[in-house]
Amino acid sequence: MREKLIRPLIAGNWKMYKTPSEAEDFARELREIPKFDDRDILVCPPFTAIAKVRKVLDQTGIFVGAQNVYPAEEGAFTGEISPKMIKEAGAQYVICGHSERRQIFNEDDEFISKKVKIVLQYGMIPILCVGETLMQNEAGETFNVVEAQLKTGLKKVSDNEIKNVVIAYEPVWAIGTGKNATPQQAQTVHSFIRKILKEMFGDIASSIRILYGGSVKPENIDQLMAEQDINGVLVGGASLKIDSFSRIIGFNKNH
Ligand code: PEP
Repeated sequence: MREKLIRPLIAGNWKMYKTPSEAEDFARELREIPKFDDRDILVCPPFTAIAKVRKVLDQTGIFVGAQNVYPAEEGAFTGEISPKMIKEAGAQYVICGHSERRQIFNEDDEFISKKVKIVLQYGMIPILCVGETLMQNEAGETFNVVEAQLKTGLKKVSDNEIKNVVIAYEPVWAIGTGKNATPQQAQTVHSFIRKILKEMFGDIASSIRILYGGSVKPENIDQLMAEQDINGVLVGGASLKIDSFSRIIGFNKNH
């Protein structure tokens, strides 16, 4: 197998779990786990816990992100949060277009493309989530869906900015369901994503991080990370417990 040159990113998405004090306690536990100098770690707590988690994780090298953002600096958008606010709270990454946002809150690719752009403009790193539903998967539409999500989601990103974007392939049927794509299924889509990125942005595509997400657990992390085009994972449920998340962080490179 060719050596993988992209530095892996292990990202936890805490969704709507953990109060600020619970998140702070978890961050303290995270501070104590063994560190690896060949991989990056990120946690994305709820907005109310970002500042506290950032403070606890200061000087650890562990990154903190937000799960969402509204694409405007400020304004009359009741209940929304701006890039300026999450940045000041300590966010370095922002998840954009998670399937729960797409499905429950009807976010479309156009709207998501504005989020990706504004996150870059504020010097943070967007994690653009793409992935097909079960119905689309069964209808053989995976590649078409993912291609359209990438092309619209990244349409405002310049050649210069793309190096600061992370893509997460998250088949909707695998999120929170316990069903995960096999490493080979995921690799096939990841390699397709890299091909589309190459068509859009050229050779820089070979250095863009493409994460896999969907029921990642201690039992499947090593096999997933052994695939050539899987450069990390976005973990929901298993990132909420220190034992499972630390095992995922400590994945075995030489599996
Ligand atoms: C996610 O929240 O992005 C996710 C992949 O969740 P889970 O790991 O629980 O399937």
